[in-house]
Amino acid sequence: MTGRQTLTMIKPNAVKRNLIGAILHKISEAGYVIKAMKYMHLSKAQAGEFYEIHRGKSFYEDLTTFMSSGPIVAVILEKDNAVNDYRKLIGATDPKDAEEGTIRKLYAESKSHNAVHGSDSDENAKIECDFFFSKVERF
Ligand code: ATP
Ligand code: MG
Repeated sequence: MTGRQTLTMIKPNAVKRNLIGAILHKISEAGYVIKAMKYMHLSKAQAGEFYEIHRGKSFYEDLTTFMSSGPIVAVILEKDNAVNDYRKLIGATDPKDAEEGTIRKLYAESKSHNAVHGSDSDENAKIECDFFFSKVERF
């Protein structure tokens, strides 16, 4: 359902800090419905594949090491204007620049350890939802 779905991950730092419940609460309050959810530990190769668009950038190595450093929660979220509204809900990549009340302002530790991922376009949302979930895992 292009346009109504986005993919989030609760990143390893937020999982380690016991923030899964708080973050899912913010997401529910914002009107998102959970269509699929998975708790898993990505390998470095899987993290590299997920963040393929950043391969070659200066932060790619650190990003994939971090994203494979512990378990994450991957979630498909659904509501109208899912991608753009979720980017607003999480705030800027660097929590220093994020608006008050956003998930990253509340829970991120730094630009590299920024608590959550959010798809940046409908096209990437579809690719990212398909990365984690098969048809029979979506409800
Ligand atoms: P995400 O894709 O995780 O939702 P984003 O879309 O806000 O984050 P991207 O530009 O896609 O930001 O970068 C992916 C991740 O790589 C960021 O979340 C951040 O942790 C890290 N990152 C991006 N730019 C830098 C940078 N200049 N230095 C260090 N880390 C960076
Ligand atoms: Mg991104």
